[in-house]
Amino acid sequence: MSNIRHALTVKRADDFAAWYQEVISAADMAEESGVRGCMVIKPWGWGIWERIQHLLDGRIKDTGHENCYFPLFIPLSNFEREAEHVDGFAKEMAVVTHHRLIGDGAGKLVPDPEAKLEEPLIVRPTSETIFGDAMARWVQSWRDLPLKLNQWANVVRWEMRTRMFLRTSEFLWQEGHTAHDGEAEAKEHTLRMLEVYRACAEEDLAMPVIAGEKPENERFPGAVETWSIEAMMQDGKALQAGTSHYLGTNFSEAAGIKFQNQDGDQALCHTTSWGVSTRMIGGVIMTHGDDDGLRVPPTIAPWQVVILPMLRGKDDDADAQLVAYCEELHEALKGQSACGERLRVTLDTKHGKASAKRWDWVRKGAPIIIEVGGRDMENGVVSLLRRDALWADNGKPDFHSPAKADAAQAIPAMLEEIQSNLFAQAKDQRDANITRGIETLDQLGEFYSAEAQYPGWVEVQWSKPTGAALEQVVEQLKALKLTIRNVPIGAAAADGSCIFTGEPAVERIYVARAY
Ligand code: AMP
Repeated sequence: MSNIRHALTVKRADDFAAWYQEVISAADMAEESGVRGCMVIKPWGWGIWERIQHLLDGRIKDTGHENCYFPLFIPLSNFEREAEHVDGFAKEMAVVTHHRLIGDGAGKLVPDPEAKLEEPLIVRPTSETIFGDAMARWVQSWRDLPLKLNQWANVVRWEMRTRMFLRTSEFLWQEGHTAHDGEAEAKEHTLRMLEVYRACAEEDLAMPVIAGEKPENERFPGAVETWSIEAMMQDGKALQAGTSHYLGTNFSEAAGIKFQNQDGDQALCHTTSWGVSTRMIGGVIMTHGDDDGLRVPPTIAPWQVVILPMLRGKDDDADAQLVAYCEELHEALKGQSACGERLRVTLDTKHGKASAKRWDWVRKGAPIIIEVGGRDMENGVVSLLRRDALWADNGKPDFHSPAKADAAQAIPAMLEEIQSNLFAQAKDQRDANITRGIETLDQLGEFYSAEAQYPGWVEVQWSKPTGAALEQVVEQLKALKLTIRNVPIGAAAADGSCIFTGEPAVERIYVARAY
């Protein structure tokens, strides 16, 4: 199929990082804003985020949470109450110190020394501490528990190395915060929300993930346990796509989240927090994109079907008839449902060359593109392209020509098929790139130096060292540019020896290069 003329200039196999950037601009998803690490999300990128938000919000509400909104600014002292938390975030906090500017006499504005804030305010990097204050007010008795809250917001973490969607200084996310009357219930809830993330990633984004516990060194600052979902990108690297934390009583102690239990005693709440962000969109690009641009899973596609009349741009009857023919199809599709919701279909009558418009929609990754030219209309058919199977064996776009009425009938099932096809392709690709049976650190090093391009992940067994011994392991892996991703839930029991210490292994972990 070497005669295919792909719609992007960079191929994944040639330069994955440049390919990623090209998809974002070619699909018109986002652009740099001029402020380092902050991006402008354009309508197609935003439309995908809205879909993810909508679906995840439903899942969060289904598990008994209510949405609320907390302030962007958090007093510095809030953070100082939890030592690990403040240590973890100190290096990336944006701080507001003044509330007024004055002229310096030379035409510049500078902070007014008279307007210095008594206490600096932090632009929230995460909101445990401010939710904690409110929870301390709102929770009095065991009857107030569990308290299950969520907010959709933007947060700021001053990241040193940024990349659009994957790691930005300002990002959008949801953060869930819950308070419970005991350890068992809080831990169970941590895992329930991890499962919500798994379902959202796999069912909505068609992105296969591995859910598991993060090692001690990768815990969220202030957490007792951190769990993650990890996805494999097409370059074999891992992407941490979401995290769920069991916080024990650390934040309850700091904020005084106490309640009277059923015996009449005062007890501390056990809390959880969990978040997924706009990073998910980067995951979708690197899971499903191909050398022609993005491929959006139908469930999260802003438009699932694009109808494209091949207008000649002349003010004559022919164009009007073509539009009328397409409008009939548009109406027939609008009434249908697909992937459990009303079908999202648009009729693109914008000016411009029809073939150029086709390639724009290919690059954006609309799941189904329907072109209609004069000849299609004469024959009562349409020309249909599936974005998940774009090319025919002859290297040309693989157009199907169903009768118009049949197309309207067949499309809902076709969208479902595209959704499951994208998931299956991604899962096959991931599973084919997980290597097992590596038993020593030397073998691991050899594996990653020999497999130059897309080595994927390696599952190894380890003895779960802690403290200084774990630090040593982390350093050994760092020398190979590797990290521990997680301890997968439901993995087979360990039956060998630890790849790092040689001691009997206690569990299996994934190691990988990561974003
Ligand atoms: P955390 O509160 O650190 O557990 O982060 C929650 C989730 O937000 C992570 O699992 C990531 O998916 C995502 N995330 C963290 N940092 C960034 C960032 N700089 N840009 C985009 N997403 C992020």
